[in-house]
Parts: sequence; structure tokens; C-alpha cells
Amino acid sequence: MNTINNIIIVGGGTAGWMAAASLQQHFKNLVNITLIESSEIGTIGVGEATIPTIREFYHNLGMNDLDVMRATNATCKLGIQFNDWYQQGSQFIHPFGLYGQTLRGIEFQHFWLKLKQKNLVGDLGDYSLGVTLAKNNKFTTPVKNPPSALSVFDWALHFDATLFAQLMRSSAIEKGTTRIDAKITQVNLREADGFIESLTLDSGKIIGGDLLIDCSGFRGLIIEEALHTGYEDWSQWLLCDTAFAVQSEATTVPAPYTKVTAQSAGWQWKIPLQHRNGNGHVFSSRFMSDEQACTILTNNINEKLLHEPRKISFKPGRRKQAWNKNCIALGLAAGFLEPLESTSIALIETGIEKIKRLFPDNSFNQSAIDEFNETTALEYERVRDFIILHYKLSERNDSDFWRYCQAMEVPAMLKHKMELFKASGYVVRYRWEMFHLPSWLAIFTGFNYLPESYNPAVDNFDEQQLLESFKKMHQSLQTASADAYDHADFIAKYCTTNTY
Ligand SMILES: Cc1cc2nc3c(=O)[nH]c(=O)nc-3n(C[C@H](O)[C@H](O)[C@H](O)COP(=O)(O)OP(=O)(O)OC[C@H]3O[C@@H](n4cnc5c(N)ncnc54)[C@H](O)[C@@H]3O)c2cc1C
Repeated sequence: MNTINNIIIVGGGTAGWMAAASLQQHFKNLVNITLIESSEIGTIGVGEATIPTIREFYHNLGMNDLDVMRATNATCKLGIQFNDWYQQGSQFIHPFGLYGQTLRGIEFQHFWLKLKQKNLVGDLGDYSLGVTLAKNNKFTTPVKNPPSALSVFDWALHFDATLFAQLMRSSAIEKGTTRIDAKITQVNLREADGFIESLTLDSGKIIGGDLLIDCSGFRGLIIEEALHTGYEDWSQWLLCDTAFAVQSEATTVPAPYTKVTAQSAGWQWKIPLQHRNGNGHVFSSRFMSDEQACTILTNNINEKLLHEPRKISFKPGRRKQAWNKNCIALGLAAGFLEPLESTSIALIETGIEKIKRLFPDNSFNQSAIDEFNETTALEYERVRDFIILHYKLSERNDSDFWRYCQAMEVPAMLKHKMELFKASGYVVRYRWEMFHLPSWLAIFTGFNYLPESYNPAVDNFDEQQLLESFKKMHQSLQTASADAYDHADFIAKYCTTNTY
């Protein structure tokens, strides 16, 4: 068989080292993996909030949660707290976990909607363990066999991106990856078919490989600069194109959630780590100057800044083909969606899984390439639509930015999903969606986008009994939360040698 013997990974940021660690673990000695990175160029240095899939990713590498947390100064993340998004002063949490319980085949939201219409119950979050823990600054790990859906929640990590890349690097190198610290100065194409033949390094050395994985960041050194693959620009829906990022001292106990606060032309994040906080302001340069954006960022940070804010510009969208000839792009080289729902690292994970599943031989069969490209495009588009929803549903009217978002036409599949939910309370699930029913419910209800009706079968249930069970659910979540650790105590006890 015409097998692939040599993989070259270009770039040693989060994407490059995650790919190296995972592919090396998967293929063992069947392929040689070489990673080329340039310490002169460096990495983007942000990307610190994750979603729960990251835990499965490192579990598969043989790492456990607490070891990873210690190695990366991590804290626990139960979800994202959205402030000032729906209206100024509003707040809700998008948790990793379920709401309430399905009863006789009817999803929980329908019962909640009926009672909510009559103003008999509180927010949807009152029936989520993840939200209840987060609101109380608590944390516990989920039980293995939950007694009911009510106890189902999940969690992710806030970690130091540089330390996480180092952890991935140790794992990859230990398993056999070769690392070269050099700058690639030229990409050499094969005359016959335009495939990548080799890379020239600044040392003059020439390195050839069968398959190249482009993890070179926004520039897309191979996929774009050499192969001219093209980029689909989504800035008509996602206006934010710039960020200022800065780290600050950690002076208060860390929250078990990422905090994202809407501003007049974008939003600000706060990601608590054990040893510092990560902060950033993502905004639209069409609606705000750098100076204004930077001032907003620093004015909203109470702790001492650890360095000058760093500017990062980006274009929302995706590479037209993530896989082109013998090059597959991952991470920022493949595309970028603003980090509102912490999806970039998760898209790296799914990209790596797809490489394993569709791994080619040297004939580079087009059907595998097509499948990879189609599913990658769908995945990015689904995440894009989920993020667009946050802007479309806002009722903020305090700036041209928000007025534009409210008035904009959204992609057709998102429009259908919104209309269907509004009409019936049903959330349609599309292929390759990263976010499931509870996440869509969190955003719809957090923005007070409530259906006109609920599933009529709910009327078969006795209203008093329903109310009673809602009360019990709420109480049992409060009890579970009271029994959990304070998040800071959990970190101090299990995840660090530092104490607060
Ligand atoms: C403002 C912002 C906030 C973000 N927040 C989050 C978040 O909270 N959660 C999340 O999941 N994601 C987040 N992301 C995305 C996340 O940072 C990236 O997905 C992740 O870091 C992967 O980056 P990368 O490895 O693709 O690129 P990079 O980190 O840019 O690495 C590129 C690598 O390529 C190498 N390279 C480039 N050119 C050459 C050359 N000529 N020769 C040799 N080597 C070269 C560099 O040396 C480097 O090693 C955020 C992104 C931004 C912009």
C-alpha cells in the first residue's frame, strides 16, 4: 500500500501540539511526525476558555483532570455568564448541562414554558445544577451514575494556553514526535500537481513530507500563502474583528465560569486562572477605535495589569477548503470565530478526529478530502450561527453596532431554527452541531426569546402537581449546591500547591 510515512506539522501553538500529541498517540510508530515551529515568531498566546470536550481529548492521551489542572494553573468552568447582552443590566448563565427532566417524552422546556407564561416559576436556570453551582461559586465533579437528569452537568477548564501547549508538547515528544525550531522561509510545490513537496528552513535545510498539517496561525502559511485556497468571510454577520488582550493579577477567588460582558461595540471577557486572570475586549473596528476599545478594557479591570494590552486583528470566517491537496489546516489556519462560546480549541479537537478517521494514503483520494471539507464547513457554520444568535437577539439599543445586529438578516438555517422555536418551543437539531438543545435553550431564554406556545400535551398534567415538582427540583438543586465545595476550596485542595 502507498502509505503515508511522514507527517509534517507546521506550527507549535495549541493546534500544532494538540495535533502532534493526538496523532502520535494514535499512529504510534507507523508514521514519523515532525513539528516545525519558530520561537522567533511565537504563538498567539490566548485561548484559555474551553468546553467539556477538551477533557475527553486529554483523557484519551492518558491524562487526568487534576494533573492537567495542576500543570496548567487551571480553574473549573461550569459555563459562561453573560452580562448586559439581552439588555444593559441583564444576566444569565449558559451552563454545560441539562435543564430539568423530560417527562413522558415531553421535553422539560414545554412544562417550564407553560408555568412561565403564568409567571409561576423562575428562570430556566433555576432548574439546572450547573447554573445553581455557578451562581453560588461552587464546584463538584458530576456523579458517575446520576440518579436523574436533574443531576446531569458537565464542566471544562480555564487554563494557561502556553502551559497547555507545553503539556501537549511533552506528551508528543515523549511518544516520538521530532521538534524543529526554525523558520520556514519557502514552501516548495511539486510541478506536476501543485502538491507540497518540501519546506525550506532558514537554516537552508529542506524537509519533505507526505502530509502537511498547517497549524501556522491566521496567516495559513501553507494552506493560503502557498496553495491560495481562499477564505469565506463572515463579517456581514459577525462584526467583531479586533481584540485587545491583557493579563491581570488574581486578587479575588476565581469564579467557576467565564464572564463575558457586552460593551457598546463588542464584548469583554474575564477568564480566571489560579495565578492570574485573562482579560480581553473583542470589538468591531467599524464601530469603535482602538483607543476607545483599549480604554474600555482597562477601565473594567480592577486588578493590576501584568503587561500592556496586546492587539490582535482577525477576520471571522473559514478557509474555503480545510483540506487542499496534501495539506490539512487546523486551528487559526483553518478559520476563526470569535471566542464568545470558547469553540476554537474544540474545533481543533474535531479536526484531529476527522484526520484520524479519514486518514489518506499517498494517492489522496478525493472522496476523503471532500468529506473532510464538507463536514468541517458544516461544523464551522453551525458554530457561526450559534454565535450570530447572541447578537441577533439582543435588545440593546445604545449604539449603532447593536442596532445593526438587530436589523441584520441571519443565515437561512438559523432563521428557520429561530422561527420554529418561537412558534412551537421545539429546537431542531442539525447535523454537525457542536451545541445541543440545552445550549440553545440557554441562549433563547437568556435573551427572553420565548415561544408563543408549548407542546399541548403538557395540559394533560395537573398544574398543581407540576408546580410541586418544580419546587422540589429547585430545592434539591439548592441542597446539592450547598453540599458542594466552594470553587476556590476545590482548587486549593485538589488542583494546586498554592492556597488562597
Ligand atoms: C482574542 C482571541 C481569544 C481567544 N480565546 C479563545 C478561547 O477562550 N478559547 C478557545 O478555544 N480559543 C480561543 N481562541 C483561539 C485560540 O487562541 C486558537 O484556536 C489556538 O490558540 C490555536 O492557535 P494556533 O495554534 O492555530 O495558532 P498560533 O498560536 O498562532 O501558532 C502558530 C504557530 O505557527 C508557527 N509559525 C508561523 N509561521 C511560521 C514559519 N514561517 N515558520 C515556522 N513556524 C511558523 C508559530 O511559531 C506558532 O508556533 C482565541 C483567539 C483569539 C484571537
